[in-house]
Amino acid sequence: MNIKPLDILRVTEKSFVIAGPCSAESLEQTLTTAKELSSLGVKVFRAGLWKPRSKPGSFEGVGTKGLEWLQKVKESTGMLIATEIANTIHTREALKAQVDILWIGARTTANPFAVQEIADELETQIKSKKIKRNQITILVKNPVNPDLDLWIGAMERIANAGIEQIGAIHRGFSTYEKGLFRNLPHWHIPIELKRRVPQLTIICDPSHIGGRKELIHPISQQALNMGFSGLMIESHIEPERALSDKEQQITPKMLKSIMELLVVRESIDNSESLTELRREIDELDQMLLNLLSKRMAISREIGRYKKEYSIPVFQPSRYNHMVIRRISQASELMVDPDFVKLILQAIHQESVRQQLEIFNSTKNKNQ
Ligand code: PEP
Ligand code: MN
Repeated sequence: MNIKPLDILRVTEKSFVIAGPCSAESLEQTLTTAKELSSLGVKVFRAGLWKPRSKPGSFEGVGTKGLEWLQKVKESTGMLIATEIANTIHTREALKAQVDILWIGARTTANPFAVQEIADELETQIKSKKIKRNQITILVKNPVNPDLDLWIGAMERIANAGIEQIGAIHRGFSTYEKGLFRNLPHWHIPIELKRRVPQLTIICDPSHIGGRKELIHPISQQALNMGFSGLMIESHIEPERALSDKEQQITPKMLKSIMELLVVRESIDNSESLTELRREIDELDQMLLNLLSKRMAISREIGRYKKEYSIPVFQPSRYNHMVIRRISQASELMVDPDFVKLILQAIHQESVRQQLEIFNSTKNKNQ
């Protein structure tokens, strides 16, 4: 996938925050929020205009007329402006209004037809030279369901349209049971995304993960600790009167105190102590591999013995006894017993596989 690190990262310092209301509701609410946020140093303003709501009849956004309000934000504060798009018409209108950043919402990412429609419109605009391929940034939220391929697939569709400035937003995954989070973070999914697409900029949306004001700070800090490049946080001038997502929106003042509390982990990739620790890890991994190799050799030896004396490969009593002993040893060494159990299972599975290979081979026992 031809994706470049996001240029918008350059307009901000160490890590960046996109902030603004869930929805633009009026010119006044939009502008006042933006001005307060801008005075805190926020450089990118978000506001939803077309709102995908679960229930018909709830507030579905102000639509196209809000584009003018966003333009006013840009003129009066110099902030970059961002809004959500879900179809061809939204894309066309937002581009015409020179919105800098478009994001694809979680419900839309889950629908390849809708994403393709957006990608086709972007491609048409690039080919007809209405926009330049680097002029527009597209952020793709994760799909509502925890499906990494669907998320990557959506970004591929946008990349295939010729867009290079693509980023991902982690906003959590929906769940039927209501628990602490509105949307479960499943952190391993964005981590795996980063492993599969290393050059991708990933930011975190703690507002939609937590669904509650109090969770914004801890989720944001966790995201920064894990190396996310930025945050998208919903902020409203009067959250209690917000027309959408009122439980999770915070005032610009609250955002300011959160931003002051957040610790941004700087890259210490080349520090001496980290290099030394990594060297030790490399050495230990090498020792682990040597041990595993020795262990497998003995296991094969046992396999040959079992074959010769017609003893079955798997002996549950021996296995259970071994697991119980190792787990109690692990607890004494402060290693998590569940983790040790997983490793032992994998090692045992491989031993059994190798012994069965010996059982099935017709070669002589010394080979
Ligand atoms: C939003 O950002 O306001 C929004 C609707 O987000 P999501 O697609 O993550 O639900
Ligand atoms: Mn919202």
